[in-house]
Amino acid sequence: APAVGVLALQGDVREHVAALVAAGADVRPVRRAAELDAVDALVIPGGESTTISKLVDIFELREPIDKRIAGGMPVYGSCAGMIMLAARVLDGRPDQRGFAGIDMTVRRNAFGRQVDSFEAPVRISGVAGDPFHAVFIRAPWVERVGAGVEVLGTVTEGPADGRIVAVRQGALLATSFHPELTGDRRLHAYFVDLVRDTR
Ligand code: GLN
Repeated sequence: APAVGVLALQGDVREHVAALVAAGADVRPVRRAAELDAVDALVIPGGESTTISKLVDIFELREPIDKRIAGGMPVYGSCAGMIMLAARVLDGRPDQRGFAGIDMTVRRNAFGRQVDSFEAPVRISGVAGDPFHAVFIRAPWVERVGAGVEVLGTVTEGPADGRIVAVRQGALLATSFHPELTGDRRLHAYFVDLVRDTR
């Protein structure tokens, strides 16, 4: 089974671990560079991107993760993890920094202007079956994508109609929502397949 790390500095680490185990990965928490070296892929959980950004520096993981991403390591980021993968962040804190892996502009806390959480059905291209029951918690959405970015999912109803909430660029995958919170393992299975294909 592919070794998939979960960046375990802050956020909903346990839920991603459980989802990845169910999807057949050999799952390991990653807090140190040596642990990153031992995995084939990384998941950046939901949480708070400003905090994750700070902890990435404190744990001296920034350069190692940048290097692995440049070397083609697959990464999946949900919510705060999506923000950490974005090349450009609107409404971010001035000191927050991500890995800039995906050529996209995300707006932080985009759904959270009036309500902190929001739910909608979202169909993901490449994932068979029913739409995801997507849960957004102070979530970002994607405002612009570069030519190399594939849009995998958009909201199709309600006040956020048309907003991009799932993207992929090469081996990098990001969602605004949290499949790890709803017991739907299809997105983690999609990612583990991507990791297998990349190995
Ligand atoms: N609002 C958070 C941030 O800016 C993301 C929220 C989440 O991950 N559920 O990082």
